[in-house]
Amino acid sequence: MTPYPFDAPASQALLERALAVTPGGVNSPVRAFRAVGGTPRFMASGAGPYLTDVDGREYVDLVGSWGPMILGHRHPAVVEAVQAAVADGFSFGTPSENEVRLCEEIVARVEPVEQVRLVSSGTEATMSAIRLARGYTGRSLVVKFAGCYHGHVDSLLAQAGSGVATFALPDSAGVPKEMAAETIVLPYNDLAAVEQAFAAQGAEIAAVITEASPGNMGVVPPAPGFTEGLRRITAAHGALLISDEVMTGFRCSAAGWYGLEGPYDAGAPDLFTFGKVMGGGFPAAAFGGRADVMALLAPVGPVYQAGTLSGNPVATAAGRATLEQCTPALYARLDEAADALTAALRDELGRAGVPHTIQRAGSMFSVFFRDGAVTDYDGARAQHVPAFGAFFHSMLSQGVYLPPSAFESWFVSGAHDDAAVDRVVSAVPAAAAAAAEAFATIDS
Ligand SMILES: *Cc1c(COP(=O)(O)O)cnc(C)c1O
Repeated sequence: MTPYPFDAPASQALLERALAVTPGGVNSPVRAFRAVGGTPRFMASGAGPYLTDVDGREYVDLVGSWGPMILGHRHPAVVEAVQAAVADGFSFGTPSENEVRLCEEIVARVEPVEQVRLVSSGTEATMSAIRLARGYTGRSLVVKFAGCYHGHVDSLLAQAGSGVATFALPDSAGVPKEMAAETIVLPYNDLAAVEQAFAAQGAEIAAVITEASPGNMGVVPPAPGFTEGLRRITAAHGALLISDEVMTGFRCSAAGWYGLEGPYDAGAPDLFTFGKVMGGGFPAAAFGGRADVMALLAPVGPVYQAGTLSGNPVATAAGRATLEQCTPALYARLDEAADALTAALRDELGRAGVPHTIQRAGSMFSVFFRDGAVTDYDGARAQHVPAFGAFFHSMLSQGVYLPPSAFESWFVSGAHDDAAVDRVVSAVPAAAAAAAEAFATIDS
């Protein structure tokens, strides 16, 4: 079944055990390598910029647990904070100081966020933000953009990015059509389409939700003025704007994508969602924004939202310790590492004659195996996916762990020093040659 040589016996043995007890052998679909073929690598440990699999092979990690590991694996300050928190107890089901400190850190960093509520995953954050927007406006419709992923919330899975894009699903089975009908899906970066949707149904639209800078169809930043246009249109119609910064938050800058693009003359988004980096590798996420909107949440207001492990003391300790290390020097290093990697990719793919476009959002980047700028989901899908697979497997065999999908962002960390970057750079020529061969021999 796999076109790739079987060369990961310990991973293969674990996969067979996993397949017996969990669908596809994985607990999140893209991990299964279905999009690139071959045996998913079961990781045994991580240290700094490296992962080591159960066969004892080391990889430079450019996935970073899909974003959270902004400091690299097992950063000593985070290890210390987590060990201290664990020593005090695992979960109390009461308020605790760690969660206050994490909320304070978030509010201090993202200027329009006056209040936050902690949850355990990005999915919960967007789900709760949508419920809050519906409660605030008394309306039901939600506008989302094709190729944007906001977690596996029923109403937000239509034409979603990430795994939904990887497996070329239009949306998910199991979502009632009544629920899908509450969602209007529009092309990304198309303000005219947003104007039209609001002209037709503006009085029924509770919110527009958008990835602050999409990273789940590959990296597709907003065109200049797009986010601001969303703000202008939603405000004119009494709808809320939800900026999903689960991936970009505290990643693109200390204040996320908002820190790079904002403030906007038209005003800030009403609500933001966060996850990934703010949990430091533990389950912690959040939504927050205008205090008058957040005041509708229980126990103050009528919009219900809760969680047994919300604000977990260990997760919040990890998150706070991580954010404390997210200094200007860290962001400078992330940019430097991304500069070096994207330059090498551009050079070598160019030299090998491989059609490609590299797009960035802060230090997040991805390679599309096609020519020309990618501005929306159709553009992202119009790439040569088999060329990505060939590139991926060449890099993997040379000890570089890329996201196993052409529709995902690549992530660097503060631990990606020159040695780690050089290891990636030296793997690129052979991978570019493999991609060139795939272009020449396989239809996309
Ligand atoms: C990862 C992600 C989510 C979902 O977060 P989970 O913690 O996986 O539920 C939501 N929105 C965006 C933009 C993401 O990248």
